[in-house]
Amino acid sequence: MANERRLTCIVCPKGCDLVVEFDDTGAIKNISGYTCPRGKDYAIAECTAPVRTVTSTVRCEDGEVVAVKTAKPIPKEKIFEVMAAINKVVAPNTLKIGDVVIEKVAGTDADVVATANR
Ligand code: SF4
Repeated sequence: MANERRLTCIVCPKGCDLVVEFDDTGAIKNISGYTCPRGKDYAIAECTAPVRTVTSTVRCEDGEVVAVKTAKPIPKEKIFEVMAAINKVVAPNTLKIGDVVIEKVAGTDADVVATANR
């Protein structure tokens, strides 16, 4: 059975189909299917230390919701912890795009920032 993993590159809308082959030790042996260097970098990251940008919403003091996201990708295994932290936030009604809602969320080095104005 082939020791490989198939991925869809999510770096750009083209969505190239990537194939990562591993040797017997589990190390990456070959990567194919990418049409630019970013796809190769994505495949390596996804197979070694996968990350994601988290997008969500926070509730403001008056009950309205505002879109937020992590300012940079965070380790994939931290997603639930980050979402739990975001769900606890009650933001001020003066929230503006770029305002930091949570600093260094869930022990990562990423802030959660507003992506819309109130
Ligand atoms: S490999 Fe390059 S062109 Fe293909 S989806 Fe990824 S970023 Fe886009």
